[in-house]
Amino acid sequence: MTIIRPKILIADDEPSIRDAIKAILLSEHYEVVIARNGKEAVDVFKKESPDLVILDVCMPYLDGFKVLKAIKKFFAERYIPVIFLTASVAIDHKLEALSGGAVDYLTKPVSPQEILARIRNFLEIKARHDTLKEAAVYDWMTGAMNKGHFIEKAKDELELAVRNKTPLSFIFMDIDGFKKINDEVGHLGGDAIIGEFGRRLKKTIRKIDLLGRFGGDEFMIMLPHKGKKECLVVAGRIARIISSRPMVFEKAKVRVSTSQGLVALETDKMMSMDQLIQTADEALYEAKTKGGNCYVLKTIL
Ligand code: GH3
Ligand code: MG
Repeated sequence: MTIIRPKILIADDEPSIRDAIKAILLSEHYEVVIARNGKEAVDVFKKESPDLVILDVCMPYLDGFKVLKAIKKFFAERYIPVIFLTASVAIDHKLEALSGGAVDYLTKPVSPQEILARIRNFLEIKARHDTLKEAAVYDWMTGAMNKGHFIEKAKDELELAVRNKTPLSFIFMDIDGFKKINDEVGHLGGDAIIGEFGRRLKKTIRKIDLLGRFGGDEFMIMLPHKGKKECLVVAGRIARIISSRPMVFEKAKVRVSTSQGLVALETDKMMSMDQLIQTADEALYEAKTKGGNCYVLKTIL
């Protein structure tokens, strides 16, 4: 996953240094964002989400080491190279930077070619990391999360909801009569339908909601902070967005519908992810036995 125009944050309290590095980076067409002190560095990092960071050691408010510690909390699972660029040649400074997670430590003066070469290398590593990460986390056919990653994320949300006594709901879906669709349009056509199904689902949810492909023609959605009423609204929207227009594969127009098992959690009662999935699976089974193309809700009080 190559980033088209990588964004680089320069944090340095010395205007002449900032300007010099900025000019070097702009000569390679990087996008540059600036912070004039440690505190600003953390703020700009959060706001701009840069791809790489160049940090000075001695800066007002927060020194470079504290900035590194603070911004690392926002990395989550991302790889964001942090390079120290400083006048300090002290070995304990070098060690503190590298053991804190910086990828490199350069001392001024440094040649523009060397800075650029190192940045290029680290961005290359980042691109490879991002590609692998994406493949490990997302289902390529649909763009939904894969099962393992979805369950990991959903578990966190479930624990948070139980702890904070906030509502949460969960939807388990399965395409109706998908074997027949496969027979009609072939396995590749079936893949295309599954892809379109995933993309349509994605359109029905918000950024904080989770969408995962459980396997085959089965998908799951977790809706944090949404109780029974809102879950039913989302289920209605899903039914409409899936069935309102046929899905197209080559010359075939395929009418698709889905059955949904809904669970609304409106309690602080402990519930494991396995129990939640099991309950949603039972609701889905009931929806299928009713003939499909419908949803069944179970509320946990
Ligand atoms: P129901 O209405 O009861 O859900 O019936 P169904 O025909 O949809 O049957 P079911 O959900 O049990 O089976 C889903 C089928 O999807 C089984 C398998 O052949 C097919 N399948 C599973 N994974 C894939 C895939 O990645 N691509 C394609 N094209 N087909 C798949
Ligand atoms: Mg099915």
